[in-house]
Amino acid sequence: MRKIIGITGGIASGKSTVTEFLRQKGFQVVDADALVHQLQKNGGRLYQILVEHFGEKVLLENDELNRPLLASLIFSNSEEREWSKQTQGQIIREELWDLRGKLAQTEDLFFMDIPLLFEQDYASWFDETWLVYVSRDTQLDRLVKRDCLTIEAAKARLSSQWPLEEKKKLATFVIDNNGSREQLLSQVVKLLEGGAIHARA
Ligand code: ADP
Repeated sequence: MRKIIGITGGIASGKSTVTEFLRQKGFQVVDADALVHQLQKNGGRLYQILVEHFGEKVLLENDELNRPLLASLIFSNSEEREWSKQTQGQIIREELWDLRGKLAQTEDLFFMDIPLLFEQDYASWFDETWLVYVSRDTQLDRLVKRDCLTIEAAKARLSSQWPLEEKKKLATFVIDNNGSREQLLSQVVKLLEGGAIHARA
């Protein structure tokens, strides 16, 4: 029987670390962030919409979008966040649905990594959802280090996502990433082998 698994978490909770491992194991993983990146490139479906909305100030000299500037414009303003959620959200959904349909024709088991899986109501697309979970302190710490952000900027990014504690109540399985990478990946191996690490334990 075919199985489609949604992977989610929060920013810097360890989703990419998990999906990189799954790819090494030979599984197909759709990466929603990478898709958005592609759609925001010059000529992509989101590019023109963003330039029209924010003006040419969001363009770099090479005519590509200045993504850090765009992120700060969107994350620092709740109206822009709402606009982005509606406008970009719909196009991203259509594109992800298309990819899901294509992979369903060839793969028995595949994954989709969607950071806002619960916030944007994707759960019904999946047979199981796996949440990569960390405490808020660990999340902030890893985010600040990975993206070289101030603690305030990191908190602003977190504020646009639901707390991981909330997502824990909704996920089929919770993968705890407060420990080492080895501890993280051994939980993934157990899930792949069918071992149960239950979400609401
Ligand atoms: P996400 O894809 O959810 O944004 P990443 O997989 O990029 O998160 O992880 C965020 C950061 O934390 C990265 O720099 C990654 O290397 C690091 N990281 C992930 N898991 C661990 C871990 N168990 N121990 C230490 N650092 C980790």
